[in-house]
Formats: sequence, structure tokens, C-alpha cells
Amino acid sequence: MAQAVGADLWHMSVYEGGFGLGGTSFYVEEGEHASQIQVLSQGPLNTGSLILVGTDGNRFLNESDPVRHGHVYNNGVWTNPMYPEKMWVVYDEAQAQLIAENASIPEEFLSTVLTANSLDDLAAQTGMKADTLKATISNFNTYAAQGNDEQFGRAAEYMTAFTGSAYYAFPVKSEILNTQGGPRRNENAEILDTEGNPIPHLYSAGEMGGITAEMYQGGTNLAECVIFGQIAGKNAAKEKDALPAYTLDAKVESTPTKLGEVTDVAAAEFETADNQYLGTGAGMGGDVVVRVTMDGDKIANVEIMKQAETAGTADPALETIPQAIVDANSTDVDTVSGATVTSKAIIEAVNDALSKVK
Ligand SMILES: Cc1cc2nc3c(=O)[nH]c(=O)nc-3n(C[C@H](O)[C@H](O)[C@H](O)COP(=O)(O)OP(=O)(O)OC[C@H]3O[C@@H](n4cnc5c(N)ncnc54)[C@H](O)[C@@H]3O)c2cc1C
Repeated sequence: MAQAVGADLWHMSVYEGGFGLGGTSFYVEEGEHASQIQVLSQGPLNTGSLILVGTDGNRFLNESDPVRHGHVYNNGVWTNPMYPEKMWVVYDEAQAQLIAENASIPEEFLSTVLTANSLDDLAAQTGMKADTLKATISNFNTYAAQGNDEQFGRAAEYMTAFTGSAYYAFPVKSEILNTQGGPRRNENAEILDTEGNPIPHLYSAGEMGGITAEMYQGGTNLAECVIFGQIAGKNAAKEKDALPAYTLDAKVESTPTKLGEVTDVAAAEFETADNQYLGTGAGMGGDVVVRVTMDGDKIANVEIMKQAETAGTADPALETIPQAIVDANSTDVDTVSGATVTSKAIIEAVNDALSKVK
């Protein structure tokens, strides 16, 4: 709606999320309320021989860093990490004992923990790439041994190399409380267009198009809702010149070309007599263009005007299908095996030409 009246949008990728372990929650089904993994400081779920990985088995952040409302600290800015589609917490036997002793995983999520005797087995159970997972753990063990996480800067004191022969993993989800995206507003709660000019008589309040981005200060959302609610309300209520009734511009009709769709552009370069029609079909090497000559209701001739099919392979189709169509006075002809795509392209092109017969 805002875009329809020319509003600029901002902060569309910014959101507030959870605390601890990358701002993730224990795994719940779509539509269920998430249950935050609350690690407000370092503990068994974000230190030691434990990593957080995505679908392939790669780490993507410093697991031990405190996550503030879904933001991680990155070179002076609290950014929202790009979360993988699926995430797994992976750890070894020693860490499993620590987690159990501290009851770090709530009872209801213990059944989501997978156990494996090898990384191959763990990869198979989780759908990760075994080689990637092995490389990730091997690298992590190196970082733990040298006390320097070259990838994500996890502190030496929070890294322990994986040991033992058992591996564990449980799935987690990214957790989002609220987004900040929406129409851009200024200090008067006026909504701005893409040139930065206020759109007359249009104001906004609330978290939609919130002013905070990448810099979460506690309470910012609610404070902004209260403050901008008042500013927007006052400005909207102020007496001002009436505007002409807003009318939407007539919708521009367009028929964009889609990938793989046959167009007549390729056919445009060939001449036709009154009883000749051009048609285009999609072949292996691009458009196949035909010129069909009609004699009353009869297909008198089919000429291939343009093609870039594979030389040799496509030849039988190029040589026989046009005549087969003429003989049958129909495009309901057999395709040539081994040159099916070219056959179909010629048939499609002739059908296209026939659709234009007056
Ligand atoms: C779990 C959680 C914890 C949070 N903690 C904090 C915190 O500690 N501090 C802080 O500052 N912020 C916090 N926030 C964020 C803050 O609560 C929100 O940013 C704020 O409430 C947003 O207010 P709003 O009026 O903009 O939108 P909302 O409160 O979402 O109000 C929008 C309203 O519009 C209604 N609506 C939607 N569509 C339609 C429709 N088509 N027709 C009619 N009505 C419609 C909805 O039902 C809703 O009532 C938290 C959010 C969550 C989810």
C-alpha cells in the first residue's frame, strides 16, 4: 500500500530476534511458538566442544558471542546474521555430559538430540555434507589448539577440541520477534517518497518502518511506538489544506517475456507473402523459425528459416519433419528419436505459424 503511493521503503532486512547461541530457538514445527535458547552469558550451549552449523555443515558465526536481540557485533555494528535455512548444534561426548549435568536442554527438546558414532553417520542423519562437516570440525579443532579462531574470532577460552568417538546434534531455528522494515519516515512522522520528499497528509507510527536499524537499544521499539504515535497523531490532526482526492494512475498493462517463452522477435527478419506465416519454437540452440505456406486450408510448404541446432544430431528432424507435416496436413506427426527437442521445436514453430492463419 505504501509503495502504491510512492513511499520509499527502508530497513527491510532488519529485525529483532533472540538471545544466545546465534539468536536461535529450539526446533519447533512451523506455526508453533519458538522456545528461545537463552544463553545470556557463556555456558554449556555456546562454549567448549560445540559448534553451530548450517545445512552443509559450515559454521557461520562466533557461537560464544552474546547475541543481542538477534544482532551480532560486527566491526562496530550490531548486524543481523544471515541464517542458513536449517541449523544444527553439533558437539562431542564431553560437551554432552556437561549439557546433561547442567540440564541445559529443556526436557521437551531432549528427543530432538541425535547421536552418532561417526561424522559420516551424523552427516547422514542431519543431511549435511560429510566432507564439509569433517573439515569444519577439523578446522575448529585446529583453532581450539592454537587458541585462535581464524574464521569467526571465538575466544580461546570458549573453544575445546572435539574428542571421543560419539557425536551429537540437535536442530535449531532462527528466532525473530519483530521486523523494522516499512515506509521511511522523518522526524515529523511524515512518510517520505523515494526522493526524500514528504508525501502530503501521510504519517506513520509503530515499528513498521521503524527508525532503528542495526543498532538495537533496549526498549527502542516501544519507545518509538509511543513517541511517533504522538507526533504522527498530532500532525495528522493538524488543520491543513485539503488535498485533491487521490486517484491511482491507470495500471500499465504489460506482458513481459518469460524465460523459455517463444517470441516473434526472431521471426521478424523474414519476409512473407499473403499466404505465408512465420512461427517460432524453442530448440536446443535457441529459436527455430519456420515459414509456413498455406494453399487454402492445406499446409503447402514448411521452410526452416533459422535454426542453430546441433549439427548432425538434429539433421534427421530438420530434413524430415517439415515434409511429414505437409504430407499429414497436420502437426500431429511423430518426432524423430535422437532429435526429439528439434522435432518438437519445429512442430511448435509450425503450430505458432498456423495460429496466425486468418
Ligand atoms: C516477544 C516480544 C518481545 C518484545 N519485547 C520488546 C521490548 O522489551 N521492548 C521493546 O521496545 N519492544 C519489544 N518488542 C517489540 C514491540 O512489542 C513491537 O515493536 C510493538 O509492539 C509494535 O507496535 P505496533 O503498534 O507498531 O504494532 P503491533 O503491536 O503489532 O500492532 C499492530 C496491530 O494491527 C493489527 N492488524 C494487523 N493487520 C490488520 C488488519 N489488516 N486490519 C486491522 N488490524 C490489523 C494487529 O492485530 C495488531 O493489533 C517485543 C516484541 C515481541 C514479539
